[in-house]
Amino acid sequence: MSEVYKKLEKIVTEKFISNNLIVRHAYSRNVDPVLQGVPDIVIRPKNAEEISEILKIANEENVPVIPRGGGDCEFGGSKPVEDGGIVLDMKRMNNIIHLDEDNLTVTVEAGISWGKLNEYLCHYGLYTGCMGPGSGMTASVGGGISHHSVGGGGCAKYGSCTNQLVGLQVVLPTGEIIETGSKANKYTKQHFNRCGNGPDLNGLFCGDNGILGVKTQVTLQVFPRPQYADYKTFLLPRKDRAVSSKIFSEVRRAGIDVYDLMYIYDIIVKIGCQQGMFPLWDHIKKKRAIMFYTVEANSEGELKEKVKQLDQIFLNNKCESLGPEISDGNIAKWHYVEQGHWQFYHNLWGMVPALEPCTAECFTPINMYPKILDDIDQWDMEHNDDMQVFTNITGQRPISGSGPILLIDGCNVELTCGFTTFGSYYNGEIHENFEELNLRLWKSFLERVTKWGVEWYMMGEFASRLMVDLEAYLPEYYKLLATVKNALDPKNILSTGKFNFWGGKR
Ligand SMILES: Cc1cc2nc3c(=O)[nH]c(=O)nc-3n(C[C@H](O)[C@H](O)[C@H](O)COP(=O)(O)OP(=O)(O)OC[C@H]3O[C@@H](n4cnc5c(N)ncnc54)[C@H](O)[C@@H]3O)c2cc1C
Repeated sequence: MSEVYKKLEKIVTEKFISNNLIVRHAYSRNVDPVLQGVPDIVIRPKNAEEISEILKIANEENVPVIPRGGGDCEFGGSKPVEDGGIVLDMKRMNNIIHLDEDNLTVTVEAGISWGKLNEYLCHYGLYTGCMGPGSGMTASVGGGISHHSVGGGGCAKYGSCTNQLVGLQVVLPTGEIIETGSKANKYTKQHFNRCGNGPDLNGLFCGDNGILGVKTQVTLQVFPRPQYADYKTFLLPRKDRAVSSKIFSEVRRAGIDVYDLMYIYDIIVKIGCQQGMFPLWDHIKKKRAIMFYTVEANSEGELKEKVKQLDQIFLNNKCESLGPEISDGNIAKWHYVEQGHWQFYHNLWGMVPALEPCTAECFTPINMYPKILDDIDQWDMEHNDDMQVFTNITGQRPISGSGPILLIDGCNVELTCGFTTFGSYYNGEIHENFEELNLRLWKSFLERVTKWGVEWYMMGEFASRLMVDLEAYLPEYYKLLATVKNALDPKNILSTGKFNFWGGKR
């Protein structure tokens, strides 16, 4: 047992630390098929003070630390980049600290899941607005804030989850514990507002992908869930990419505060139906693209008016409404009423058994994504020979493209794009060439999409490094980022490897 292990064990007790081989391997993975490194130690702290002690030891001993919430990152965010280091599992810190019903804020420990938090809030007629990511049943609030997560419902109305952030408690990489926002004033008893007391230092930690500090407590705004809601699902006509983009834009121009607006393009609908993933659309003869909306209101009259305006936009664009019930194919109702927004993506990624995703998620303007989707088709054709290598062995061709496309705040969409693939272990045999091919294809794919000027928002090791390798960052921006990182984490202990600050070396 190493000296570092013994020191850490004293902090959390033996029950909450492990160097067991199976545990270490379990923490060496996220959902992508790439194995980058296996940690030496997995530790499960219970509060900020313990984390502070752990980080101080990591600095003394020069050992990397990787914060991990739900571990749902899609590309190397919450697993080690190389062998060694400590994975800091935040899921033990999953308590609700305080619901302030007067001021409509909730303070939670950062390891709580969006599902658990919203289950609690619903007893008070409240919700978090943006319900976090589609992985919200397991993904943590701290992970969401570290990623600018968006997508698990409500994001057309409320934007990404960082929009609702009021304040943070963060342990800096060198072990100091800080409060941001209103609580930066020592006379303030509670987080009530994000901006003030100087620059918005909350923002520094939003979307930082865990490189600037460990979030231990998060205060979010909460909202009363409106009493009225309606939800409709439509089949799109041909040329659905252009039509859907037009609808997104028209809804925004009409100024309707739609809660969710989602487009699922035809390939996903077709393949998903073939795989039995969308039983609610089995009865639809023409498996065309789908688009749906959810809208909320405080009175019946308000709801009626909004629905009228939205329906008009869809009908003017030659869309065909499916019936009102889930059994009619109304996925929007399932999303809102049965929390389908947190189940949908888990299904999607298990679309074909043994297929694994090499994806990425980015923001892009409404008028841009149809061109990006066309270019992804082109990329796929150009890489047909590579895809064939998988097909020859598995009998199935990887599928490239995009998952559901969601309207978020402003005139932007969230675009999840990539390709499904196979891990090197397939059907009882190891295919080493799969590993190399996956990495090469994934990089090539992300490079192609990056050049469309998209904004990756959860970057992990993969996209953050790619941006640097491609020299996509403006040099002045990257220099400032590296300066901030160096000031807060001079030994580059936290999430070592991301953004390639030290040229790939520690
Ligand atoms: C099925 C599925 C569906 C998904 N759907 C969506 C979606 O709709 N929208 C979306 O945005 N994403 C989605 N994702 C991606 C991912 O789940 C989200 O980004 C999620 O917010 C990550 O949260 P997590 O707790 O799992 O974070 P992790 O994967 O554990 O960590 C994510 C990053 O945050 C850092 N981190 C975690 N906790 C802390 C902390 N307390 N302090 C500092 N750093 C921390 C990690 O080091 C890492 O860099 C999906 C993933 C899956 C598997």
